[in-house]
Amino acid sequence: MSVLVYIESADGAVKKSSLEAVSYGVQVAKAQGQEAHGVFIGNAPAEGLAGLGKYGLSKVFHVNNAELATANIQAYASALKEVVAKAGANTVVFSKSSLTDPVAARLSIKLGASIVTNVTDLPAGNSFKRSIFTGKAFAQVEVSGAQKIVVIRKNASEVIETGGTAAVETVSVSVNSADLAVVQKEVQKATGQVLLPEAEIVVSGGRGLKGPENWGIIEDLAKTLGAATGCSKPVSDADWRPHHEHVGQTGVKVSPNLYIAVGISGAIQHLAGVNSSKCIVVINKDPEAPFFKAADYGIVGDAFEVLPKLNEAFKKVL
Ligand SMILES: Cc1cc2nc3c(=O)[nH]c(=O)nc-3n(C[C@H](O)[C@H](O)[C@H](O)COP(=O)(O)OP(=O)(O)OC[C@H]3O[C@@H](n4cnc5c(N)ncnc54)[C@H](O)[C@@H]3O)c2cc1C
Repeated sequence: MSVLVYIESADGAVKKSSLEAVSYGVQVAKAQGQEAHGVFIGNAPAEGLAGLGKYGLSKVFHVNNAELATANIQAYASALKEVVAKAGANTVVFSKSSLTDPVAARLSIKLGASIVTNVTDLPAGNSFKRSIFTGKAFAQVEVSGAQKIVVIRKNASEVIETGGTAAVETVSVSVNSADLAVVQKEVQKATGQVLLPEAEIVVSGGRGLKGPENWGIIEDLAKTLGAATGCSKPVSDADWRPHHEHVGQTGVKVSPNLYIAVGISGAIQHLAGVNSSKCIVVINKDPEAPFFKAADYGIVGDAFEVLPKLNEAFKKVL
């Protein structure tokens, strides 16, 4: 028996969230006295797959069928079913994403496996902590069943380097034409800058910025920090910023290491999109702004005075 971790890439590199899933899977495997393996579908990332051994994987299965070079929910679930059997996996770990959510659900049906999603911590035996109500509460769930599928949220585990190299086994799976009824033909990215859902740092602005003409101070700080820019819903509704920057319950959910909220009040619908961030910094001129309750650090002040000073200070040290 083993633990199998699904590895996803973006822009030719393994996603950080997948490295978190690897570290999570390695710790689960260790607790069960098993080996942790990885599985990657599609064109291998530029750095190769053997290097994933450095995070504790002993083997990575590389599914390299040409038809699976682009993401495909049905076909990937079928391919994973074959790899799970090959690896003898009793636990499959995914990091939550728009691709893995439906793939994991389909895989659980194909395998008849128990599935637990939105997991925020390592399990205690068969007991898993999961985030519910868009991150406003947690539930403890007991998972029975011989095979488990675990979908973790970002930041559920640190990325832990243990050293080593993984053996890479190339696998060709049987692809059913019915699984290819939907095929992705083209991907158009929102911007050439740091992508919001993947960003390690996000600088986000709200109605407190007064208008689109003032976004320079947000962009300047984001540039200094190598961050993505985000905004509250009313800001994108008013076309001050593009809709793909809208963060929250009805927008993009982000889990960066650092979320800087500027002139955003902190309504629950906004918090629902940011509350799995590692560190939240709030800049607001109203000391009673609700966002301060969710903040790790806060600055009570006028954004138009604070941001340029903060930017200059960061420039000196970065
Ligand atoms: C069904 C539903 C879904 C929703 N989904 C979302 C969502 O996904 N995302 C989202 O963001 N909202 C969402 N909303 C809207 C949400 O309820 C809030 O209305 C919205 O988040 C408020 O945006 P804001 O904080 O930018 O604006 P405001 O509430 O107007 O807050 C502006 C803040 O800026 C501060 N400020 C003003 N001037 C300055 C200054 N010079 N310097 C510093 N601070 C200043 C003020 O003190 C205030 O706290 C949703 C609402 C509903 C009903």
